[in-house]
Amino acid sequence: MSTRIPATLIAGDGIGPEIVDATLLVLDALQAPFDWDHQVAGLGGVKAAGDPLPAATLDSIRRTRLALKGPLETPSGGGYRSSNVRLREEFKLYANLRPALTIIPGGRFDNIDLVVVRENLEGLYIGHEAYIPIDDDPHAVAMATGINTRKGSRRLLEFAFEHAIATGRKKVTVVHKANIMKALTGIFLETAEQLHAEKYKGRIALDAVIIDACAMKLVLNPWQFDVLVTTNLFGDILSDLAAGLVGGLGMAPGANIGADAAIFEAVHGSAPDIAGQGKANPTALMLAAALMLDHCRLPELATRLRRAISDTLNLDNVRTGDLGGKASTSEYAKALVARISNG
Ligand code: NAD
Repeated sequence: MSTRIPATLIAGDGIGPEIVDATLLVLDALQAPFDWDHQVAGLGGVKAAGDPLPAATLDSIRRTRLALKGPLETPSGGGYRSSNVRLREEFKLYANLRPALTIIPGGRFDNIDLVVVRENLEGLYIGHEAYIPIDDDPHAVAMATGINTRKGSRRLLEFAFEHAIATGRKKVTVVHKANIMKALTGIFLETAEQLHAEKYKGRIALDAVIIDACAMKLVLNPWQFDVLVTTNLFGDILSDLAAGLVGGLGMAPGANIGADAAIFEAVHGSAPDIAGQGKANPTALMLAAALMLDHCRLPELATRLRRAISDTLNLDNVRTGDLGGKASTSEYAKALVARISNG
């Protein structure tokens, strides 16, 4: 019998509980050896414990160093700071790995297989923002400070190069805007070039592209890319773009990896527009669970999960509405369980 693995589970907000239930059903069918510690965060945390990131949730992740989490709602404009961003900071989850892989062939973009590695802790997401009032307008001027450090850039770039080599990739593309933000994103480009010359020349190719050109190239010819590595804001935007290439947000998983813990989640948010209706596609969270199985050195279970997802979508043709199907979240999960049990 395999060793049990303690892990924190956060159902999250909006569609979170529906997609987490579906994912648990499938992980149970696989007999994945996780011992879940159920905790709350986001709006669920505010409702249950008066805090979007309760101490008990942090304590749990501190203990397990491993979490699977549904999306957490963050109010726009005012309100509390994103629990996602706080979790990344608390556990120094500096690398955000977001693979985009075609699972359903025949779409507008076929055979996509690329990875976005996003810096998760620095840049313009550090929350150093302020308004300056002028006359009677309290929001007359808005300002934000971005910070990228040599150390933070190097740590993330090292992760990207090592991940690329370990997974048999051919090329790492550093995405920047060093022509305009010469210091803020220049340091990232400069560090990438230095690190490559120092440790990775001859082991993996490196090239560089400016963010705006990269967005256009990803739409015109995404197959030219392999691993894209970039700063926080650009990575956030590009990974949604990459999700769009493989069938939308319902298909895009993410892993937040750091020195102290690893947290796995879907790229998408809490989708309040479809919450509670049984319409959500749980595939992204299930693919995140597959990344979690890889992380826990259970690649056979991860492969079985990915194969069941592909077979259910392509052979059984059971799909949720966002993929043109009619299945509810739970019908899709049951079809997956049948595939796993018979496979
Ligand atoms: P969203 O990703 O929740 O939704 C965007 C669109 O995609 C919506 O039309 C939604 O219905 C659809 N969609 C998303 N996931 C889907 C799925 N699994 N199946 C089918 N359709 C799906 O983005 P949003 O509406 O901009 O954000 C809603 C909330 O989520 C906000 O509070 C935001 O801060 C939060 N958010 C959280 C995370 C996270 O927890 N990691 C990430 C992004 C956004």
